[in-house]
Amino acid sequence: MIVSRLTAIIGPDSSIPTHPTVTPEQLLKEADRCVKCGLCLPHCPTYLVLENEADSPRGRISLIQALARGELRKDPSLENHLSRCLSCRACESVCPSGVRYGELIDGGRALINKEHHGSPLWRRLFDQLSDRNRLARWSSLHNLLRRLGLTRLASLVPSETLRRLIAFGRYLPSKGNTLVGLHASKQPTGRLVQLFTGCVGSQTEQTLIMQALSLLTRLGYAVEIPQSQVCCGALHRHNGYPDDADRLLEENRRQTEISRADCLITLATACQLELDEHLKTKLPIKDLTAFLLDLPEETLPRLLPLKKKVIVHSPCSSHNDRSQDLLQRIPSLEITNFPEEGICCGAAGSYLLTQPKLSAALGEWKTAYLRASQADILITSNTGCALQFRQLIRQMDLEMEVMHPVELFAQQLETRA
Ligand code: SF4
Ligand code: SF4
Repeated sequence: MIVSRLTAIIGPDSSIPTHPTVTPEQLLKEADRCVKCGLCLPHCPTYLVLENEADSPRGRISLIQALARGELRKDPSLENHLSRCLSCRACESVCPSGVRYGELIDGGRALINKEHHGSPLWRRLFDQLSDRNRLARWSSLHNLLRRLGLTRLASLVPSETLRRLIAFGRYLPSKGNTLVGLHASKQPTGRLVQLFTGCVGSQTEQTLIMQALSLLTRLGYAVEIPQSQVCCGALHRHNGYPDDADRLLEENRRQTEISRADCLITLATACQLELDEHLKTKLPIKDLTAFLLDLPEETLPRLLPLKKKVIVHSPCSSHNDRSQDLLQRIPSLEITNFPEEGICCGAAGSYLLTQPKLSAALGEWKTAYLRASQADILITSNTGCALQFRQLIRQMDLEMEVMHPVELFAQQLETRA
């Protein structure tokens, strides 16, 4: 039964050819702007952990230059150095020459995949993870394994990636649910917004989605989650499959074009960044925290006080994290944050599966602060970071919840509609 369910979930390989949209000449033009000053090195998490020039931004740019000039062929070592990059872009934000490192690493990976068609297994995994209907079926499968007691045997699985995949499965809902459709407001104002729930987040963040729906409809907005909405494409783009990412974006663009919504609202900072940079739509794209903060204050309901402490994690994908501004509206809430902001938690999208050891090592860096904070709740606005922290907190045996700022905000509404 398990095998037949697995086959039904995985389905046929899409086998859509993928080619990078960036040329070696374009890559070189950008890479040649790097003056090799090294100012970015102390900000690079992988350089700090591995202390190897080839695992630093400057080293990776040199590798990409050599690859684009045809001086280097793809080999496992080259691929490893590029794969170990988190795409956190901490280097980009401190670079005095304004090198667009994010484009370079995505392009470098795409160049490798173009020559060698990438790894079919990884690509299939990204296809699985980015399809929320398939993920809903994974939820059912994981529940079946759990009921049969088989998830307890995960430690016997030889692959670390598979072990992590099974471990993260515990954050899938007991019943796959995509919550798609039109959600009407009880006090309709004629305003409509489209909610972008993402791929993995559409399953692991169902409480957040329900809170977001309840909050927005209470504020007078009708909310639509289109049936055909798909992943934002970040998983594919950052792993060197830009055409797959563009294909996903095109479907999302179509969903915004046929809608009469005034705004596209996101829940995860990584989706917000990807859509902001690549989705060509007429609709404004706003993350829900910013959307709420930009509403006239008098339109927001009053909040109950909360005598608790939260520790706020700012995801790398959030260039202007406004979580604290929203949380400050909750009376009595004590807010603290991590002292070394800007260092990735190690989640980095699919990185927690593709680089499990490094991802875990980076997560470990946060543990001392987590414990010392004595916080009741960890706040993060990104799906991957939430998964990484839930797992860390579980391993540390701490009594700490992980929540999106909007989840806590919605929980403290004075009266329910
Ligand atoms: S990426 Fe920017 S900061 Fe890093 S070495 Fe190149 S020029 Fe210097
Ligand atoms: S994106 Fe992050 S991990 Fe990659 S080179 Fe830049 S700082 Fe290092």
